[in-house]
Amino acid sequence: MRWKTGRRSSNIEDQRGRRAGPVAFKGGIGTIVLVLAASYFLGINPLDILMMQTGTGTDVGQTNWKPSPEEEHMADFVSVVLADTEDTWKEIFRQAGKTYQEPNLVLYSGAVQSACGMSSAAMGPFYCPGDRKVYIDLAFFDELRRRHGAPGDFAQAYVIAHEVGHHVQNLLGISDQVQSEQRGLGKAEVNALSVKLELQADCFAGLWGNHAERSRQVLEEGDIEEALNAASAIGDDRLQKQGSGYVVPETFTHGTSRQRVEWFKRGIERGDIGSCDTFGSG
Ligand SMILES: [Zn+2]
Repeated sequence: MRWKTGRRSSNIEDQRGRRAGPVAFKGGIGTIVLVLAASYFLGINPLDILMMQTGTGTDVGQTNWKPSPEEEHMADFVSVVLADTEDTWKEIFRQAGKTYQEPNLVLYSGAVQSACGMSSAAMGPFYCPGDRKVYIDLAFFDELRRRHGAPGDFAQAYVIAHEVGHHVQNLLGISDQVQSEQRGLGKAEVNALSVKLELQADCFAGLWGNHAERSRQVLEEGDIEEALNAASAIGDDRLQKQGSGYVVPETFTHGTSRQRVEWFKRGIERGDIGSCDTFGSG
């Protein structure tokens, strides 16, 4: 992907190297039970969470952590992709007579506290509708490359654009609508609706790719294949991911590899928001 000359976003919150979690340890046994339950599902050491919770009683802020040049490069890349999604969606919203409100993107390491609760990097990148922020631990991109066999910068851009897609769904009221439809439904129907939401975020990611290419010629040879490979690698049928399913929406089912590839392709080929109606397509 051609990105180095691109604009950088001013909406990055860099919380890497910072302790996460509530500043004071208020809970009694209930908190410990919750921590144990969370750590069981997240597969992380409960002591780590408790340490984070008790800590020194205050947020120590940035420790003496320093990013490596490679991590800085990654963070720079994320900033450019985020800025590009801002330019793209601003224009699409403008054409529809709406105003796009830009989301913040939080870079964190290890664990993070959001309006959606406490999350560990093991859950992967996510969007929290409660605070309208995208959360990414850059280590996920290593995981994408090593564990899921999906290398390449455009594969990473796809992941970011997918999370921004959830923000767009939030702004358009689609997420709320789906959530209220899900109330009272059985588990299978609830999951089916979640899949549609996820596939639409994939389509929106493709839509971003289409617009970025048309206005800024970002694509290089092999980029689309990288994203399609990533979409396929993180389909539900390929991905056996741990997770409780209630901490963040990302643990919902996301659709099969084939579905994810199809919807991303649709977005990037057609480039029009109407073609991303995963709900109407049955
Ligand atoms: Zn998603």
